[in-house]
Amino acid sequence: MTTVPTPASTVKSDVCIVGNGSIAKTAALGLAQAGHSVTLLCPPAPSAANKPAPTADQPWDVRVYALNHTAHDLLASLKVWGALDMGRVAPIDTMAIHGDGVQPGDLAFDAFGAHVGSLAWIVEDSNLNQALDAALKFAPNVNTVVGNATRLETRDNDATVHLANGVTITCSLVVGADGAQSWVRNQCDIGFDYRSYNQRAIVTNFACAKPHHGVAYQWFTGAEGIVALLPLPGDRVSLVWSAPDDMASTIMAESATQLALRLAQLAQENLGALTPLQPEQVRDFPLALIKPHTVVAPRVALIGDAAHVIHPLAGHGMNLGFGDIADLLKVLAEREDQRNIGDARVLARYARARKEDVLLMQLATDGLARLFGTDFEPLRMVRNLGLNLLNKLPMVKRKLISQALGK
Ligand SMILES: Cc1cc2nc3c(=O)[nH]c(=O)nc-3n(C[C@H](O)[C@H](O)[C@H](O)COP(=O)(O)OP(=O)(O)OC[C@H]3O[C@@H](n4cnc5c(N)ncnc54)[C@H](O)[C@@H]3O)c2cc1C
Repeated sequence: MTTVPTPASTVKSDVCIVGNGSIAKTAALGLAQAGHSVTLLCPPAPSAANKPAPTADQPWDVRVYALNHTAHDLLASLKVWGALDMGRVAPIDTMAIHGDGVQPGDLAFDAFGAHVGSLAWIVEDSNLNQALDAALKFAPNVNTVVGNATRLETRDNDATVHLANGVTITCSLVVGADGAQSWVRNQCDIGFDYRSYNQRAIVTNFACAKPHHGVAYQWFTGAEGIVALLPLPGDRVSLVWSAPDDMASTIMAESATQLALRLAQLAQENLGALTPLQPEQVRDFPLALIKPHTVVAPRVALIGDAAHVIHPLAGHGMNLGFGDIADLLKVLAEREDQRNIGDARVLARYARARKEDVLLMQLATDGLARLFGTDFEPLRMVRNLGLNLLNKLPMVKRKLISQALGK
């Protein structure tokens, strides 16, 4: 349900979620299903001119996510997974990771070895959002309000979000799901560490001449960054190339066909020739590590990229966000009767519950990005040896896989 409240009106609910990405929408569904009334505060939609024209045969979205089992289980429990267009979802059966240099290391794991049906699933952003929007239409406890937030006021027992048009939203708990530049985080004066990777992730889709057999390929190339080709349904793959800034500028000035030629040396053996999918679309995203000093403040919890931004080399930013939602729901459900959902102790439990998962993923992705971001030969040898060694240590490998699966 979408409401356009009249100016100066007051909206009341248990929770106000600020944001309208996949994480905000999933949190809204989860909290509503748990019996809380939810106001979802979305910014005014961008003008129609910015939106791609709908076509009968929807083109493949260049924004795709590798969703793990945590994401799958949460979305399934909210009846969102079943609403995805499964014809557009590709399971990942094997991950093949390659090092660089004269003696490149190799690391591979597969669903069979991990005793699961699939390691992860590649889902388009548009497919996920269509399923979430459809579920939200039928969610009885969710009220969507469109407007610009200007001020967040917190008191002992509640909080109020003030909008530019005079509308106020009063609630017990404000959830900041408003992305890397989080307005909610700023309103709470939560400081954060920021470090640019001086890289941009370039994304686009290709048809491949040979079948990919559900393999997600990743190459750590040193000077040219990290290249991933992820399986899409049919003989198609989706590129995520984390390239140094200078190189990214050059690539973005070229055509998608030139980009395919740049990838030929890596992809030819397993995937054959790559051909850009039509209509051609190449996008880039600046990459940074953002670590807020806390994910809670009085009456406030941060989730998703508002709470942590990591390098996409492991494909886990969104998965961490789904983990935030699962833990927030659990902590709220397990609270004592006398505590309400914005109680400081309850929020502190949420912060504690997230600490280990988030820290592990920050350390792992940041460590790998730094380790593989240099061309220093001794380091190159060590990291390639490390990949080979890991490949031969079943126990460590199993631990790594279960972490990646979100199990
Ligand atoms: C190239 C690339 C590849 C990636 N691949 C993967 C992957 O394979 N797997 C994975 O798990 N993760 C992946 N990620 C990470 C993933 O994209 C993010 O972690 C995820 O999109 C974060 O979702 P979010 O909803 O928290 O934030 P966002 O998607 O940034 O959404 C925030 C929303 O808040 C809204 N908003 C902002 N300000 C306000 C305001 N003041 N009021 C109201 N609303 C507001 C915005 O409009 C936006 O809709 C990848 C990231 C990149 C860059």
